[in-house]
Amino acid sequence: MFKKLITMTAVALIVSTPCLTAEVLDIKAEAKEKRYSLVIHGGAGTILKKHITPEIEKRIRGKLTKSLLAGETILKSGGSSLDAIVASIKILEDSPEFNAGHGAVFTSEGKNELDASIMDGRTLNAGSIAGVTTIKNPITLARAVMDKSRHVMFIGNGAETFAREQGIETVDPSYFYVERRYQQLLRAQGRDKSSAYFSDHRFGTVGAVAIDQEGNIAAGTSTGGMTNKRYGRVGDVPIIGAGTYANNKSCGVSATGHGEYFIRATVARSICALMEYKGLSLQEAADAIVMEQLVEMKGDGGIIAVDKDGNIVYSFNSAGMYRGKVSQSEKPSTGIFKDN
Ligand code: ASP
Repeated sequence: MFKKLITMTAVALIVSTPCLTAEVLDIKAEAKEKRYSLVIHGGAGTILKKHITPEIEKRIRGKLTKSLLAGETILKSGGSSLDAIVASIKILEDSPEFNAGHGAVFTSEGKNELDASIMDGRTLNAGSIAGVTTIKNPITLARAVMDKSRHVMFIGNGAETFAREQGIETVDPSYFYVERRYQQLLRAQGRDKSSAYFSDHRFGTVGAVAIDQEGNIAAGTSTGGMTNKRYGRVGDVPIIGAGTYANNKSCGVSATGHGEYFIRATVARSICALMEYKGLSLQEAADAIVMEQLVEMKGDGGIIAVDKDGNIVYSFNSAGMYRGKVSQSEKPSTGIFKDN
């Protein structure tokens, strides 16, 4: 809209005052100067400085930055927010530091069952998958469900069959094994909740939200769920409106935290709805759900979000949240703790 207005004004000026042409063309070029925003998360939880060594911190910030740069490259060159968030999420899924793809947490049976979802704020199309065990990058399967099927959600074997039909990359389930995660499961089953390492890494889901140069918003989330979850348990991540939501009219949201609470509070959709129907700003809407409603319910976690004007927002009620952001006017930056 803003772009259109500037362009129309520029054309009117060119016609009426030819001597202004050069100046006006400059304005036009500037107006076209590319506006985009991207925000990512790598999970929320009891992330405290005293539990993280400088090497781990460096590694995590490095992966977050790599993910931001992958998405930004696409947005900068005029690519879509959908492509950008998939590129960003794939990097986090491939990193053992995060609870998604390689590095996913274990179920109580010692397996990895992965969930993911994606939503296109322009069309309100969405795709999601739950309980898959051989999909290397679950976010790419969620995207395929959205783009190539007439459904929104596939689970288990049906999702795996669809993946094979679509030529989505699969791996042996052992690909997801990460020793550190397995130790977390053993500790959780031994009820050793005093272990800093366990409490520290309770969550770790990944997600991304972006708005591209066309003003289209997209959001996506991918996870291994929660350590020691029961076989077949599905969290908020693949539930459209709970862990993920996007609507060009308001905002895009990706969540991380204790999924059962996020489902009951329909976190992602509620934030967008508060903007749409109550006229709240993105930060107000996010805080109303995350810092008030979820706190009341005792639901730990947080969200990342982008609104239709490109504003980026974080809101988390946990001690920390792995996160990062970048836009046309802001270099990539990352955060881990409450105070960065
Ligand atoms: N929300 C995820 C779930 O409950 C867990 C997380 O965010 O780490 O499955």
